[in-house]
Amino acid sequence: MNRLLALILILSVCTSAFAQPIVIAHRGASGYLPEHTLEAKAMAHAQDTDFIEQDLVLTKDEVPVVMHDIYLDTISDVATKFPDRKRANGRYYAIDFTLTEIKQLNASERFSEKTGKQVYPMRFPKGTSSFAIPTLEEELQLIQGLNQSTGRVVGIYPEIKQPKWHRSEGHDISAIVLPILKRYGYATKDDPCFLQCFEFDEVKRLRAELGWHGRLIYLMGAFKKGEKVTTERPTMEQVAHVADGIGPAISQDIEVLTQLAHAQGLKVHAYTFRRDDLPKWAMSQDEVLDLLIHRAKVDGLFTDFPDMVVKWLRERQP
Ligand code: CA
Repeated sequence: MNRLLALILILSVCTSAFAQPIVIAHRGASGYLPEHTLEAKAMAHAQDTDFIEQDLVLTKDEVPVVMHDIYLDTISDVATKFPDRKRANGRYYAIDFTLTEIKQLNASERFSEKTGKQVYPMRFPKGTSSFAIPTLEEELQLIQGLNQSTGRVVGIYPEIKQPKWHRSEGHDISAIVLPILKRYGYATKDDPCFLQCFEFDEVKRLRAELGWHGRLIYLMGAFKKGEKVTTERPTMEQVAHVADGIGPAISQDIEVLTQLAHAQGLKVHAYTFRRDDLPKWAMSQDEVLDLLIHRAKVDGLFTDFPDMVVKWLRERQP
């Protein structure tokens, strides 16, 4: 074997042994700025995250906007600006508002619908400063603009929110989102994009019916070691047939789950690491990160604090 070939082999073995998981900014740098605002996304980009997440819901005029829930009332002042627009259950739905109306709202730190108190008390003060709810396109332009001006390519991680519910309201969100992604250069597995969804039927539909050729992640919620296979939960083999990976919630059983997923060639991107909301079983941030990264060897991690995970990984690089 010639020396160059030997060197290449050694290098490739080294890089695979020390493969670092990707850092995914969960709703942006949402530990520091109101979730899913462009400000939170710009901060995440500056914190050297690898990917930035977009949760997507539709407006009445079928524009995908970046928000976590189908409701506007826990992240904006909609109840003050449009008091008569709530449904019978008291909630304000993005789908009942046009983009022009949504743009009149001030986005804010997430708060409880019942008490009005912000969910994470030590985060950005609720209702202060001035923020907007961005469209998917505004966010893609921001990330691609920053990719150009900084010379560092950060990927996108869009999630189709509640596709079944959207269809019951008469709107096919996936069919609206995919052409936009394609127009911005996200269409194949070589493009810096992971598309994600909680509904397995929609994951299958994205591949088979809607022709998504990019990377695809099935979000599966919490996993318990030894859990019984239910009809609602597909097997790893079934997931591997259509998706490139799974997105499980962080749990003590993540090591077992990751082994099962890796055996089927699936990537594992776990959610969500929050310094101000550690799992009950964890004594420290280090314990959680060590379990996920060194023991379970997940391939990616969603976090509200991208800077912390990036720093943690850099300090432990060989
Ligand atoms: Ca999400």
